[in-house]
Amino acid sequence: MERMDRKLILETVDMVARTAATNGLVHKPDEFLQLFTFKVTNGQGANGGIHRDKIGERKWGKPYPIVRLGVQSHHTSRERGMALNLKKHTGKVDKVWQQASLFAKGGDWLMVEYTHIHCHPVIGGFVSDNAYYHGLAAICHEVAHAAQFWNHEVQCDAKCERVKAPVAHGEEFKHIYRNLRRTFGLLRLKGTWLLDEQRAEAA
Ligand SMILES: [Zn+2]
Repeated sequence: MERMDRKLILETVDMVARTAATNGLVHKPDEFLQLFTFKVTNGQGANGGIHRDKIGERKWGKPYPIVRLGVQSHHTSRERGMALNLKKHTGKVDKVWQQASLFAKGGDWLMVEYTHIHCHPVIGGFVSDNAYYHGLAAICHEVAHAAQFWNHEVQCDAKCERVKAPVAHGEEFKHIYRNLRRTFGLLRLKGTWLLDEQRAEAA
């Protein structure tokens, strides 16, 4: 399977961030888009959230939404599936990777999600031989984090620190991620691991 090239990744991140804004998933959408930052790292990890730059001794700048993707996480490898921040191999995570290896042996590429959502038909893993869908899903996942933490920050501005910090993979994240995955048609076919899209193309 071909990797997504850097230009396509950039365009896709931009498109997903815009979609989050137009789908009403972020507070202050204009500001969100204006400040949205994307960085490519050399690692395998992918993450999304907000960041503040240090602007002096104990002084921090305004928070901005950010997505970081490692160049090595942009593709799916036969052994590992899509690298998605799964550096700690707990027993539960290993199960998912074992499944990915099993699919890979049959020539199928499994997009791997976190164990507790991996089996979910909308926000879970899926099998597709199109690298774009793997990358798009990973980007939706990370933009959803950037959106959830941005939303929290905006609420804090208005209501001080009484607003509880969001759980990284909690309900708000799932709501945003689900909306994005639906918008881009990254849904699994009922009863299988195949992506709907794939089947539509084959027909
Ligand atoms: Zn995550």
